[in-house]
Amino acid sequence: MKFVGAHVSAAGGVENAVLNAHTIGAKAFALFTKNQRQWVAPPLSQKSIASFKELCEKHEYQPFQILPHDSYLINLGHPEIEALEKSRTAFLDELQRCELLGLDRLNFHPGSHLNKIDEETCLKTIAESINLSLDKTKGVTAVIENTAGQGTNLGHTFEQIAFIMDHVEDKSRVGVCIDTCHSFSAGYDLSNAEAAEKTFAHFEKLIGFKYLKGMHMNDSKKAFGSRVDRHESIGEGTIGTDVFKYIMNDSRFDNIPLILETPNEEIWPEEIKMLYSYINPSK
Ligand SMILES: [Zn+2]
Ligand SMILES: [Zn+2]
Repeated sequence: MKFVGAHVSAAGGVENAVLNAHTIGAKAFALFTKNQRQWVAPPLSQKSIASFKELCEKHEYQPFQILPHDSYLINLGHPEIEALEKSRTAFLDELQRCELLGLDRLNFHPGSHLNKIDEETCLKTIAESINLSLDKTKGVTAVIENTAGQGTNLGHTFEQIAFIMDHVEDKSRVGVCIDTCHSFSAGYDLSNAEAAEKTFAHFEKLIGFKYLKGMHMNDSKKAFGSRVDRHESIGEGTIGTDVFKYIMNDSRFDNIPLILETPNEEIWPEEIKMLYSYINPSK
């Protein structure tokens, strides 16, 4: 089955994300479990945790339908030790928040070398950051998102992601989230079914669908290979709708959160419906 939703607001408490998802007809959702632009946040209250769990049960969201996203400030490959420690502490806090909420995966951007260390050193640092935090937590999978390769962000090639995963000790708790906009901007063609087939065959070969723990369903404002990360509403951008039709009709994308991070949240209910309408019942 397909589980389509969006990255909804958790303003006023994580429990509100559940309600926001339900309101737009989402069968999956993403959320920040704390303010994504601040380093520290107060711990989740018992009340908030209980209410989150209760509402998830009421509106039928299981952990595999939920893809929390960590703070944008975190850089697990930071070249400087002090900043790296700060990121690792914050990342551990994010994983622990997921644990408290009973969630089983945390989506994050791998990290940036900031032109101060070489790529390989940065990728190894990221893997070590993941190892350290997995050691201190239970039940939550670290889900690496592919990036557009903007600036010095790593994770824009499947090879880089595979390299990080190779250096993660507990393979049962590492996964991947593929963002269609980032893939296209990074130079993986998704503009028609044939191109998508090729890109995902390459993904299968280098990483493997068994590690796919979520998708970000975004069209792109920027050109193919631009290495710029600007999301667009489905069908309004440079990728077009073919890849989304492809995904909605391919069982390799079943039973994972398929999350819209498109810019116009007013139309999320329609975008969700549109994605479901792509399913060809004869398939
Ligand atoms: Zn994304
Ligand atoms: Zn993005």
